[in-house]
Amino acid sequence: MLHRAKKKNPGSVVVAVGCYVQAGGEEVLKDEGIDLAIGNNKKKDLVEILEKYLSGKTEETIIDIGKTSEFEEMQLKETAGHTRAYIKIQDGCNQFCSYCMIPYARGRVRSRNQEDILKEVRGLAGKGYKETVLTGIHISSYGVDKGKPALLELLKEIQRIDGIERIRLGSLEPRIITEEFAQELGRLPKLCPHFHLSLQSGCDATLKRMNRHYTTGEYYEKVRILRRVFANPAITADIIVGFPGETEEEFQETKAFLEKIKFYEMHVFKYSKRKGTPAAVMEHQVQEETKASRSNILLSMEKVHSKEFRESFLGQEEEVLFEEEKEIGGDFYQVGHTRQYVKVAKKSEKSLPNTITAGKITKFLSDDIMLLQ
Ligand code: SF4
Repeated sequence: MLHRAKKKNPGSVVVAVGCYVQAGGEEVLKDEGIDLAIGNNKKKDLVEILEKYLSGKTEETIIDIGKTSEFEEMQLKETAGHTRAYIKIQDGCNQFCSYCMIPYARGRVRSRNQEDILKEVRGLAGKGYKETVLTGIHISSYGVDKGKPALLELLKEIQRIDGIERIRLGSLEPRIITEEFAQELGRLPKLCPHFHLSLQSGCDATLKRMNRHYTTGEYYEKVRILRRVFANPAITADIIVGFPGETEEEFQETKAFLEKIKFYEMHVFKYSKRKGTPAAVMEHQVQEETKASRSNILLSMEKVHSKEFRESFLGQEEEVLFEEEKEIGGDFYQVGHTRQYVKVAKKSEKSLPNTITAGKITKFLSDDIMLLQ
């Protein structure tokens, strides 16, 4: 893309920004198609750096990300949609899973100041946003760089902000879920019962090679806690297939584990090498066609489990935050999501986006949209 940009606009200044630059090192700096490379934690200075570059001055634009302890503060005032705002609360990760580049490209955990987050959420609430999604690279580590985990405290503060009606969490590390933590979450009425618990594999031997620090037994217990504390929570996960050394038996173990949990949604990834990570040089790399067939098997399974989860809402009264108006099968509908992130559509003359309305879910309109009446 960078080369294409230069080719199309030979007179332009092509700037590469972020993880690719951070992880690519010398290779990126030597690339003739790139005029300026800006690493992570310097993104907010892009305009200033570009102005200096254009006036012939240069400066260090890639820092040693592994040594940074500062969160790169960037406030968000508006987003493309007008109902849901994604708020970044931390950057970086200390876990070093054997397949992942992130700790090298993004550095160690840096948590954003709570006050800066709250200021941003209040600002967005003032603009009419009703839902906020807390995101980051490893949000379960929020606060650990400042001495103690602080995700719960942050959630309690956001819960108090008028105008915000829903809080969703981005991907969670399963080990954060304890009985006590889940009980505390259960006391936050704005928190949506929708949890993305990172899994990656349903086989203990594979998890060990991945350098994930939990077993499938522990993971299963976390899911049970959530299902005990919340009524019918949506539980979703990421899965990698074809990790180096994943035998047919190991894949079958994963498959059986996923059958047992029945996720609402699974993001299935085919393992791909990341240069410089331990997994990239592991023995017994898996053939691409095996990865593709394993991925297809899990995607078909996901379809079944996802439908079963949606079916469990038939006849139920649910609260929906409407986001858009859409034509479905020739009819005009108001479309939104329930607290469990089930997509629903309602026939209404009135424009509903950014309003919360309750109704009964009566049938499927399509594979992934249900009708609300
Ligand atoms: S997969 Fe997630 S937890 Fe593991 S190193 Fe990457 S960002 Fe960290």
